[in-house]
Amino acid sequence: MKKLVIAFTIIISILSSCKFRPFLKYYLPNKTTHLPNFKKWDRFVGSNTNSLRACYDITCYDWKVNVLPIKEEIKSTIKIHFKMTGDQDTLLLDLQSNLKIDAVESDDLKKIKRKRNTLFIIYKRNLKRGEKSILTISYHGKPHVLLGNSTLFWEKDKKNRPWICTSTEGMGPDQLFPCKNLLYDEPDSCFIHTQVPKDLTAVANGKLDSITNSTTTSTYHWSVHNPINIYNISFNVGNYVKIKKDYTDINGIPRVIEAYVLDYNKELGEKYYDQAPLIMKELEKLYGSFPWWNDGCRFIETCLKDGSCMEHQSAISMGDNYAINYMNFNTTLVHELSHEWWGNNLTGYDYADAWLHEGFATYSEALFIEAVFGKQKSANYLNNTSRWVGNIRPIIKTSDVAYKCWVNPKDGDIYGKASLFIHTLRIALNDDPLFFEILKTAQVKFAKSNITTDQFLSFFNEKTGKDFTPYFDLYLKEFTPPTIEFSITQNSDNKKIVNYRWAQELPKGIDLKIIISSGEKYYTLTPSTTFQSLELPLDQKHYFEIMKTGYYLLKDVNN
Ligand SMILES: [Zn+2]
Repeated sequence: MKKLVIAFTIIISILSSCKFRPFLKYYLPNKTTHLPNFKKWDRFVGSNTNSLRACYDITCYDWKVNVLPIKEEIKSTIKIHFKMTGDQDTLLLDLQSNLKIDAVESDDLKKIKRKRNTLFIIYKRNLKRGEKSILTISYHGKPHVLLGNSTLFWEKDKKNRPWICTSTEGMGPDQLFPCKNLLYDEPDSCFIHTQVPKDLTAVANGKLDSITNSTTTSTYHWSVHNPINIYNISFNVGNYVKIKKDYTDINGIPRVIEAYVLDYNKELGEKYYDQAPLIMKELEKLYGSFPWWNDGCRFIETCLKDGSCMEHQSAISMGDNYAINYMNFNTTLVHELSHEWWGNNLTGYDYADAWLHEGFATYSEALFIEAVFGKQKSANYLNNTSRWVGNIRPIIKTSDVAYKCWVNPKDGDIYGKASLFIHTLRIALNDDPLFFEILKTAQVKFAKSNITTDQFLSFFNEKTGKDFTPYFDLYLKEFTPPTIEFSITQNSDNKKIVNYRWAQELPKGIDLKIIISSGEKYYTLTPSTTFQSLELPLDQKHYFEIMKTGYYLLKDVNN
């Protein structure tokens, strides 16, 4: 027993150490709010209004990164262009502590101070509002690996050649380069110059401007000419070949959708990416013109952890090994491509608003199936989605805090449940043309900008002329959805009796009916908190048609 206590104490001490603390606290949520507890430091670093953050606006990241596969290190220089939005002599940035700084340059720079995973850039004078400047930071090192996860994956392809991919969404872009790790501050442009050994190809976001060669290396100069989320900035290195798919966009303009695949997968990729133009066509019909034609549309075969995919703007990482999971399509590809609208074009203001990205991308999967295969197939797909809803944490997370691992498995409901919430809004609105018009208009009104959940709610209310606040409160801020308690008995007349009621009173303003189908017949019911009964023929199977009425839980009180 004593040994067990000692072992337990050691494990807790290790987990409580600086590196692991952010992850541990995620598993020890507050008992009342069911959300993680955040310390003073997390609130300081993650605050959108912290004066050391809010005093400057980043306009461009110009990132040169030398990728060294043998040492499994990067050596890098980043020029951060910024404009002052207030008077201040100190800027706060983020950079993971195990990346070593070689030099920092900026006009009137006094010194820098590192504290935990942040950088305080201290100037000799107050930089004045409106002033523009450049901060150049040279650094090197190995990005952090934690429990097999990282922002930079050093893998080998099937021919044992280097295959190196990046993705920073989970652990944070500050693990790869110095940045202001707040979602709302998107640079207006970005340059990614990736230097690699000469036999390898580097693919990043945006357009390939040029390739420069030395005797042993090649540098691929990519540029993004649009605002880009900080966690979307990425590069991938491997023995890539390019595939092109012709596409005519929603405005009749000829376009090309590109895919970079490993050379030995060219044939596989050619066939696989036949689906891309078809998916693009449906998504453009739903949400309007693809937002990044001037930067391009590209998919890249990647080696992210567990084969995961990632919505890197104009350079989507595909890691699921050419799987086809729905008829001739891959719904993850639908999901990632729809992020170009939901997440990349319209972006949440704070990481707490991530449901706007993941909920709409997940619902896009169902909308794509509806458009191509019909409503019933889409309803079945949504029903499946409801099986992996956790209902253990509110969808809206804590805002104004520094997240590590911000898409924690316990926050999985920002995907499936948020998708079901959006579907519930659609059912409650009961006006599909208006619902789809709202989705399209949102992409125009909030194009290339960041919005809060409250701004989205106001927009939805304004467009519909109704108040959907109770729905947003119930589905996003509470974690238990409406629950139908039911029991089924049989009477002597060869009838089945379904008894049903709401487990709790529905909040005022929520009008959620339920539908039971039995054979060919549909019964629309208006439950209360008192049990009511419905008689059905014994020989007919019955179903609660959740997707016709909106998302709720079913609880059989006899089981
Ligand atoms: Zn997603």
